[in-house]
Amino acid sequence: MRHVVVLGGNIAGLTAARVLSQASVRVTIVEPDGHSGGLRNGVPQRQQLHALLDMGRTQLDRMFPRLTRDLVADGASLASGEEIEMYTAGRASSGCRAMNWSA
Ligand SMILES: Cc1cc2nc3c(=O)[nH]c(=O)nc-3n(C[C@H](O)[C@H](O)[C@H](O)COP(=O)(O)OP(=O)(O)OC[C@H]3O[C@@H](n4cnc5c(N)ncnc54)[C@H](O)[C@@H]3O)c2cc1C
Repeated sequence: MRHVVVLGGNIAGLTAARVLSQASVRVTIVEPDGHSGGLRNGVPQRQQLHALLDMGRTQLDRMFPRLTRDLVADGASLASGEEIEMYTAGRASSGCRAMNWSA
């Protein structure tokens, strides 16, 4: 069996490890922060509110089928574009669906 080492255990590393695990590859995640995923101490934005846009959530739900349910159980809320104001480069965007959670 091939053995792949993934450097970094946050969203990109965990998602890569998930995809690799489907290919019968042994995966080791190396994460210097002590634990992987979520609101790690080394991430400066850990105290902020976070939004996960709907397309990202949909794709992640395909790989992690309980993700939305677990996030909601953990305090996240599903919100529609009418409930959220989003600004990109100073301009309001409309019609987004997002999932919010805070620490
Ligand atoms: C202020 C701020 C607010 C944000 N808000 C949002 C938001 O609301 N919604 C959203 O979707 N995105 C948000 N982002 C963006 C989001 O945080 C990043 O896109 C995302 O964290 C990138 O994930 P990543 O796994 O690629 O990298 P990171 O999250 O940076 O993870 C990299 C990992 O690699 C580890 N690492 C580093 N060096 C090594 C090494 N040499 N060997 C092994 N491991 C190593 C680190 O410890 C870390 O765990 C925000 C970013 C910032 C700065």
